[in-house]
Amino acid sequence: MEQCILQIALDTPLDFCFDYRWTGAPGASLPLVGQLALVPFGRREVAGVIVALAEKTEVPLDKLKDVLAVRAQLAPLSDTWLALCAFAADYYQRPLGEVMVPGLPKNLRASKTTSLDRALKKLGKALPGHDATPAAVPILNAAQQAAADAIADGVGFSPSLLYGVTGSGKTEVYLQAAAQLLAQHGAQPNPAQILILVPEINLTPQLEGNVRARFPGLAVVTLHSGLAEGERLTHWLAAHLGQARIVLGTRLAILASLPHLRLIIIDEEHDPSYKQQEGLRYSARDLAVWRAHQLGIPIVLGSATPSLETWQHAQSGRYRKLELRERAVKDAVLPTVRLIDMERDKPTEGITSFLISALKLRLERGEQSLLFLNRRGYAPVIACDACGWISNCTRCTAFMVLHKPDRRLRCHHCGLEHRVPRACPTCGNIDIQPLGRGTQRIEESLTNIFPEARITRIDADSTRRKGSAQAAFATVHRGEIDILIGTQMVAKGHDFQNLTLVGVINPDTALFSQDYRAGERLFAQLMQVAGRAGRVARKEGGSPSEVLIQTRYPQHPLYAAVMAHDYDRFASALLAERQQAALPPFIYQALLRAEAKELKTGLDFLQFAATCLAHPGITINDPIPMTMTRVANVDRAQLLVESASRPALQAFLKRWIMVLRATKTRARWSLEVDPVDI
Ligand SMILES: [Zn+2]
Ligand SMILES: [Zn+2]
Repeated sequence: MEQCILQIALDTPLDFCFDYRWTGAPGASLPLVGQLALVPFGRREVAGVIVALAEKTEVPLDKLKDVLAVRAQLAPLSDTWLALCAFAADYYQRPLGEVMVPGLPKNLRASKTTSLDRALKKLGKALPGHDATPAAVPILNAAQQAAADAIADGVGFSPSLLYGVTGSGKTEVYLQAAAQLLAQHGAQPNPAQILILVPEINLTPQLEGNVRARFPGLAVVTLHSGLAEGERLTHWLAAHLGQARIVLGTRLAILASLPHLRLIIIDEEHDPSYKQQEGLRYSARDLAVWRAHQLGIPIVLGSATPSLETWQHAQSGRYRKLELRERAVKDAVLPTVRLIDMERDKPTEGITSFLISALKLRLERGEQSLLFLNRRGYAPVIACDACGWISNCTRCTAFMVLHKPDRRLRCHHCGLEHRVPRACPTCGNIDIQPLGRGTQRIEESLTNIFPEARITRIDADSTRRKGSAQAAFATVHRGEIDILIGTQMVAKGHDFQNLTLVGVINPDTALFSQDYRAGERLFAQLMQVAGRAGRVARKEGGSPSEVLIQTRYPQHPLYAAVMAHDYDRFASALLAERQQAALPPFIYQALLRAEAKELKTGLDFLQFAATCLAHPGITINDPIPMTMTRVANVDRAQLLVESASRPALQAFLKRWIMVLRATKTRARWSLEVDPVDI
């Protein structure tokens, strides 16, 4: 009989691995580190990852349980993958099993191996590539060519920022750099794999199409949360077995097993969706940089409005800066950005007369317009003039939003909803009014102003059904829509061929947000939505595309930078401010959050946390209620911890979390390293 002890990482809140006994037939080969094993845990059977083989265990023999099965048919996860997970667990202060296991496809973790065996058989038969003629390869301009060459020629760990204005052809640089690299490292037995991360795959179907068309002979797979379980397993396995040569995925793909990874590309690297906001609160961008460093491979971070962290690395020379200053399509120029002063041109129904004239002109010319408003619903609140009642959510520190088409009030934070009351619930006044404007209300106003125009709205409400977003975008691309209204969903990725006007309805609220990152985000959003216009060559004699921003603060420096398309200046000013105020990226932060039925429970816990350990070199701020204190009847508080030294902060967090884990409290708490929403 062969026997050994296996240390197995399981998805539990406990920060250690579990010992199990493995017994095999005489002469059987021992399990390998990186293989999956099925074990009994409590009353369940769960799958985990073997992280070590041992001869001894501290578990008493009568308590030691047996491994139920080892998934020997599957090649073990590599040492580098295990090291990536170990780093993430260590850096984000989470249990190792919680990093490793949930990211594996469900069907891989199942008790039965039916799905796994079927998927392996399917992959064994045929590579999921297909034969077709590759799409024509566009000729790059000089700046694009230089960037693509620099990326593909990168030796060892070589991080680059691909900084290019919207429409400058960053995607083409990625594709041609990828093609070069695949050609260099295409030989058997270990042909190169490339990982391309995108913020939201469903909003960028064009990219997936482009990649497939360009590399028709290669297996291209996607990894994102929208996949069905069966697909997810096949795609994951294709990556793990090295068959998939290009993996296109959202943030979760950063933890995919890619044994022959040679290049990582992160498109729109500044996008907030690269940050996971629950559980393991990781930054896929930061993990990607670590992974590239670990493997000694090139990584490209692409953006028109890089995050300040990345920008600072590029300025300091840690990342190479590759610039695309021109739009790729000849004669396509950046749109003219203008501000409409809402104090002078008072809007009716939320739209100024200047913007109405501009829309009218586009309708006459048969061109398309896009109106951007990052607030869905009809109105953010309804109110009673007589007694001052407003539609607060009873469970959150938030308003109930009016959704007019279905006559409901809905809380966007806890999901509570009910019918719109016929009269004020407090005083009975029947004249209760919507205040403010969401996308539905703007759509209604436009329909009144331009009854003959073909208008559509794209936001989370209008695209609830699967595939409806793609269908709606398709009608815009086919030219069946004159005016498109939408939230940030419309700002990303799409090249609208006939769009020459972008109107921004009311971006001012972000100017005065408590969140110091709000300005950075607004700038990125405005540049991105502005970038939807004028991506094609200007027609003979046609006027350039326009972006019109309605604002009450036309003097604000952020708008001046947007008008000048001057990210450099804006970023330099912001970095100087951050340095002066001792904010990231000049210091490092962690945020401890506590939630409880009563605010005091959370605050008491945080107060204890603030004082339970000596902390030289660490600043611990006062515990405070979160800005939106109550969500779904739970009160939330937070404690911000800062340090000028990342190692000092990491060392403190390590000791701190041990103490916190041993502390009894009724509060639910979580720790976030490098928080983005404070
Ligand atoms: Zn009232
Ligand atoms: Zn609510």
